[in-house]
Amino acid sequence: MAKPNDRDRSSKPAPGSLRPAQIGELGLVATPIGNLGDLSVRAADYLRAADVIACEDSRITIRLLQHLGIKKPLLSYHDHNADEMRPRLIERLQRGEKVALVSDAGTPLISDPGFKLVREAASLGISVTALPGPSAPIMALILSGLPTDRFLFLGFLAAKTAARRVELEEVAGLRASLILFETAPRLVTALGDLRAVLGDRPAAVARELTKMFEEVRRGSLQELLDHYTEAGPPKGEIVIVIGPPLAAAANAAVDLDAALLKALGVMRVKEAAEAVAAATNLPKRQVYQRALELKQQAGEAIGDD
Ligand code: SAM
Repeated sequence: MAKPNDRDRSSKPAPGSLRPAQIGELGLVATPIGNLGDLSVRAADYLRAADVIACEDSRITIRLLQHLGIKKPLLSYHDHNADEMRPRLIERLQRGEKVALVSDAGTPLISDPGFKLVREAASLGISVTALPGPSAPIMALILSGLPTDRFLFLGFLAAKTAARRVELEEVAGLRASLILFETAPRLVTALGDLRAVLGDRPAAVARELTKMFEEVRRGSLQELLDHYTEAGPPKGEIVIVIGPPLAAAANAAVDLDAALLKALGVMRVKEAAEAVAAATNLPKRQVYQRALELKQQAGEAIGDD
C-alpha cells in the first residue's frame, strides 16, 4: 500500500481542486566558490536526491557532479533562457519533482539567476528550501576587517565610469559597509571611482577566495589604488569591500582632530599621524593627510616640524 507521503508523479490535479495533487520542492543549493571541499554534506545529498538539476553552465556543473560521483539530468537556467525555462521548471515542480537550482559557483540568486523562479514557485504554494553554503560577498566581508553590522551588497556596478559614479553617489551617505564585485582588468579604474566618490575610506580587496592564491589586501582606498596602479591588475576573481563613511562618524572626525592636535603638540607630523593611526585604527594615509591640514591651519602655533 502506498504510504501517505509517497509521490505519484503521474497524478493530475483532482477535478475542482485549487492545487495540483503533488507539489514538488525547489532547493537552492550553494556550491563551492573555488574549493570543492566547501560543498556541504546536505547539499551533496540534495543533489543526489534531486530529479533534475537546473544550472547556469552545464559544463561547470557536470565537473562538480563528477567530483561527487552523481549523474543527474541537467537543465540550463541562465539569464538568456530563464523566461522560457521557468514555466518548464514550474511544471516539473507541480508534477511533484524535486528540482535543485545551482549557479556556476556560490549561492544561487546572489548576482545569479533564480529570484523570479523562487517568486513564482512560492506564489504557487510550491515548497522552496535552501541549502546554504559559500558566497563570495559574505566571505569577503568577514575577512575585510571592516564593520559587519550593517552592509549593502551592490553586485556588479556599471562598467562605465560615469554610470558607476552615479551609482556610487546614491549610496555614498549610507552608514554601512559596501560590498561589490569587480573584474580584475577594471579594478584600478573602479578603485579610482570609489576613491573619488566615497572619499578615502578603509577598504579591502578580496581575491581568489578559498583558492590556492587567496589574498585579502586591506588599506585605504587611496592605498589600494596606489598599490594596484603600481602592481598592475591582479589575476582572478575579486570582491571589494568598503567601510562606512568615516565622517559618519562626524564624532569620530572630531575625535581624530582632537587626538591629532594633542599629539601634534608634542610630536612631529609623521610621528603624530603614526601614533594616532595606531590608536584609532584609521588608515595611516588619511590620518597623515589630516595631520598636515591641521598643522597648516594652526601655522606656527603648533611648532616647527
Ligand atoms: N553567486 C555567487 C556567490 O554567491 O558567490 C556570485 C556570482 S557572481 C556572478 C560572480 C562574482 O563573484 C565574480 O565575478 C567575483 O566578483 C565574485 N567571486 C566569485 N568567486 C570568487 C572567489 N573565489 N573569490 C573572489 N571573488 C569571487
